[in-house]
Amino acid sequence: MYIEVNQLRKTFGGYIASDDVSFGIEKGRLVGLLGPSGGGKTTILRMLAGLETPDSGDIYIDGKRVNDVPAQQRGIGFVFQNYALFRHMSVYDNIAFGLTVQKKPKAYIKARVSELIELTGLKGLEKRYPNQLSGGQRQRVAFARALAPEPHLLLLDEPFAAIDAKVRKELRAWLKSTIERIGITTIFVTHDQEEAVEVADEIMIVSGGRLEQKGSPIDIYKNPHTPFVAGFIGESSQLPEPSRLKGFEDELPGAKAIIRPEFVEIGKPGELATPLAAETGVVRNVFFRGSSWQVEVQLGTQSVFAYRSLEKEALRPGDEVLVLIHRLYLFNDEHSRIVE
Ligand code: ATP
Repeated sequence: MYIEVNQLRKTFGGYIASDDVSFGIEKGRLVGLLGPSGGGKTTILRMLAGLETPDSGDIYIDGKRVNDVPAQQRGIGFVFQNYALFRHMSVYDNIAFGLTVQKKPKAYIKARVSELIELTGLKGLEKRYPNQLSGGQRQRVAFARALAPEPHLLLLDEPFAAIDAKVRKELRAWLKSTIERIGITTIFVTHDQEEAVEVADEIMIVSGGRLEQKGSPIDIYKNPHTPFVAGFIGESSQLPEPSRLKGFEDELPGAKAIIRPEFVEIGKPGELATPLAAETGVVRNVFFRGSSWQVEVQLGTQSVFAYRSLEKEALRPGDEVLVLIHRLYLFNDEHSRIVE
């Protein structure tokens, strides 16, 4: 493993911000640190960067324990959400900053900055100042500046948070392809599940200071280990009484059950292939989701969500429908399992 973190703990006046977090990251990976606000993502990132000292635990980068290595000597590039560009410096000087501090030869700096200007698509903007740039351009300057000293590891803290939705989408795609091209190991913090799923090779879900799950986006989506993870990645709703559903009578009454809309089939009588296995429910709400309808159906005391194709006859609140549940995610204290 290129990065190895063992039992990393950090408390702030008794509050546990990082609760014995352990993980390993292979070289060249693009990893998303995802979780709700206050969950402890930034604390992990800052400890890796050397900006925060852990109470206990070890951090290894490329086989070397770096706990006692100062931030500047860890070979890490950092990009924060608020760009933190130097306002009185041009784009060129901002990107050159780290190299100037390192007293690199002028010719080297010039060549390296031009290379980064090219890579980040900032050609023609070299002489501009940060206040003459769009949010997306500023963030690309911050990215180029972090990359200039050729770090081995790149840490991005909510790099797109301050950017509007459309530019943000473009930047994400750009960032992913650029990082893949350079091949640098990167960890980025986000609280946006869509962003994490779209950009990352691997996701670490952090909540309440704990690492809840680590895996590829698809793995986490398909096999969530906890109800929290199931709820955080993808659409889901909780069923208070799964054992009252047809076909699920034997399931633990105490278990928590999560259901995803894509595993719920609904239809008018005649539309379903196996109507005998279905329950009868009543449509509560219908939401237009652009590519489909999302339908909330009342099943006894519980409600489930399902998608319905726009090509099918529209449903209305109060309509009776048949409901087939193809998959449930069940969780109790010890383990999780999928029932189909
Ligand atoms: P966000 O998405 O809001 O940035 P986060 O997941 O990055 O959240 P952290 O910033 O790591 O969360 O914070 C984790 C917890 O530690 C929070 O409850 C926060 O208030 C607390 N915390 C972080 N830094 C400090 C500090 N310097 N002093 C006191 N408490 C802190």
